[in-house]
Amino acid sequence: MAVLPLLVYPDERLKQISQPVSGVDEALRTFILDLEETMRAGPGGVGIAAPQVGNFVRIAIVDVSGKPKTQSHGRLVLINPEILEWDGMAVGREGCMSVPDFTGNVIRAERIKVQALDEQGKLHTYEMNGYEARAVQHEVDHLDGLLFLDRLVSRRNDLFARKVYKK
Ligand SMILES: [Zn+2]
Repeated sequence: MAVLPLLVYPDERLKQISQPVSGVDEALRTFILDLEETMRAGPGGVGIAAPQVGNFVRIAIVDVSGKPKTQSHGRLVLINPEILEWDGMAVGREGCMSVPDFTGNVIRAERIKVQALDEQGKLHTYEMNGYEARAVQHEVDHLDGLLFLDRLVSRRNDLFARKVYKK
């Protein structure tokens, strides 16, 4: 396994729309392991999307199980994820491995239903809420070339410089 180099804002490639995965094979599973290692190597790494390492395919990994008092499905590999339902709205602070110098307040749905393939090619539907739902919405945005910076209500009021980014 390997930690892959991250694209960092304002790299224009982060705006690229990623393509659906056509088939799950061993090479893809190896890439997913590298992607996961890259996520876990980052500070506070609760999610990552393939385009963040320059591979423009619709794959994201989310794992919020390390966050206390948070409902979670554990480690989730989401291939070709589709958010089918959104419900409620909440403001929350987000960070991103590709935007190391800032955090921001973003409005997201509180509850979502998401459908995705796992790394065996099996289709799952997950209902989730709170922080996990937020993380999935953030990662799916990456697949569509969007960063949390694009969703700030106000750049003046909702963007915060990170003084220290813990390594
Ligand atoms: Zn991100």
